[in-house]
Amino acid sequence: MIIDFREFETFPAKKVLVGGPEKISLDYQGVHSATQVEVDLSIQKSGEEFFCQGQVAARVAVECARCLKLFEADVNGTLDFIVCSIEYHEANAREAVDAEDYVHFADQAMRANIVEVVRQAVLLEIDMMPLCSDDCRGLCVRCGRNLNEGDCGCSGDEIDERWAALKDFMPPRQQTDNK
Ligand SMILES: [Zn+2]
Ligand SMILES: [Zn+2]
Repeated sequence: MIIDFREFETFPAKKVLVGGPEKISLDYQGVHSATQVEVDLSIQKSGEEFFCQGQVAARVAVECARCLKLFEADVNGTLDFIVCSIEYHEANAREAVDAEDYVHFADQAMRANIVEVVRQAVLLEIDMMPLCSDDCRGLCVRCGRNLNEGDCGCSGDEIDERWAALKDFMPPRQQTDNK
């Protein structure tokens, strides 16, 4: 996702970038890929800095936290960053702006790759516990079957395996009952 800042003649300028999965990789737990990314920016110039604000809309493939099925979710994030040369930034660092909110020109030609700020904006908006649907029934804890696809036949009131292991550590029942 490269912007050539020489292409703008008047400000504020508008820039739209649309890309497929090759544009942004989302290597992150439970997030598998972005199938579509659209960035819509408004760019204002001040001195040697370009102030970029806008939105990113992405369609991402994520794993359901309950049933582990992959599904697609739409994510909308906001973008707010400054583009300038690394030399200018080092000489004029703004105390109030985090370093990660800066993007530096990759070369003398004023091209900048904004993929990292876009990636961060998308990841920020992805649900920590994504669910394929609000009433996802998840997986059976005994047999692992996806319960959205039907019941598995395991009895729901049997003791949970996590507690079954604890039984061995408990004192025999008679001793606690007949004090
Ligand atoms: Zn699910
Ligand atoms: Zn089951």
